[in-house]
Amino acid sequence: MIPYGKHCIDQSDIDAVVDVLENQFLTQGQMGPKFEKAICDYVGAEYCTVVNSGTSALHIACLAAGVGQGDLVWTSPISFAASANCARYCGADVDFVDIDPVTRNLCIDKLSAKLSLAQQNNRLPKAIVVVHFTGASCDMQAIQALTQPLGIVLIEDAAHALGATYQGRNIGSCQYSDMTILSFHPVKAVTTAEGGAVTSNNAHYAKLLGLYAKHGITRQDLINSEEHEGEGWFYEQQLLGYNYRLSDIHAALGLSQLQKLDGFISRRREQARFYDEALSALPLKLPEVPAYTDSAWHIYVVELLQHDRKKVFQALQAKQIGVNVHYIPIHLHPYYQELGFKPGDFPVAEKYYKMALTLPLFPTLSREEQEYVVQSLKEVLS
Ligand SMILES: *Cc1c(COP(=O)(O)O)cnc(C)c1O
Repeated sequence: MIPYGKHCIDQSDIDAVVDVLENQFLTQGQMGPKFEKAICDYVGAEYCTVVNSGTSALHIACLAAGVGQGDLVWTSPISFAASANCARYCGADVDFVDIDPVTRNLCIDKLSAKLSLAQQNNRLPKAIVVVHFTGASCDMQAIQALTQPLGIVLIEDAAHALGATYQGRNIGSCQYSDMTILSFHPVKAVTTAEGGAVTSNNAHYAKLLGLYAKHGITRQDLINSEEHEGEGWFYEQQLLGYNYRLSDIHAALGLSQLQKLDGFISRRREQARFYDEALSALPLKLPEVPAYTDSAWHIYVVELLQHDRKKVFQALQAKQIGVNVHYIPIHLHPYYQELGFKPGDFPVAEKYYKMALTLPLFPTLSREEQEYVVQSLKEVLS
């Protein structure tokens, strides 16, 4: 079976992990801070907190944003459920902004209209989680121009987009946002097996992110510093945090993987160009990437213009091609339906979902395998 996505681990990654196991601290040694510094250098952000998953990263980003009971968080319905669940962890309500049918990211006109209405009703979101779906950036400058005057915290879910650029700058730089979250799950651009990070340029958020990820405990910036001078054992719990730390074993893998990120992304871009050309004559809507972003091509999603998606999915699976569907609109899951959402609430997302099909794309996918995918798709659609 050709999977839709796959990690790429080589001997240098294995050596990096073995070195930690044999010679270093297994957790809370030097690897976490080194990985954080390397992420900052790569994306061009001032601060980074690594954590044990992208989902944890979303949770602490919401906490740092001050999201709590009774607050409201908006996101895109076409994302992994974690983009919305993070608000629920904080006791907040979730709402969605329907997608743009071309970019398939949250629609800026709809966002603008929904913000005007929310302002009239005095029910503005505390934070908005925008998702760079498939690895192509949202138009962050336009989004920030809408959210910043209203005091809304803007969080980028860049789980798909490490290695992508917006206006020529790396995603994660937070040029037009407050925080950016990354995921290092094995299907993402680089992996730590499980892992994630939050980047920011704001010292206040950075401090809170570090606290929330580590039990709320710190030895620095003590609230009662004078009383405890010379007490080398002393630490304070300043808020209710979690154990979301990334171990040194995982961080060493991430540090090694990050050296190869640019190579992985250029392979993904070549493969996307190959699909663009090879599939152009088929009755498919191919991905369109706006000029302001260079996509990281986390996934290559086509939309079937004439064919039944279930039949095409099954026929390709029968040919050992691990096609997939990204995503079932979040508001259609039973959990969110119980909260009051219903089919028809976000019609563009629902229409997209009925036609969407993700084709295999990952750095070690061979040209022969890609040709087999194209040939099989031609046969199935003929
Ligand atoms: C993968 C993913 C996440 C969650 O990341 P984990 O590391 O798996 O917890 C969040 N948002 C999006 C869009 C993702 O694709």
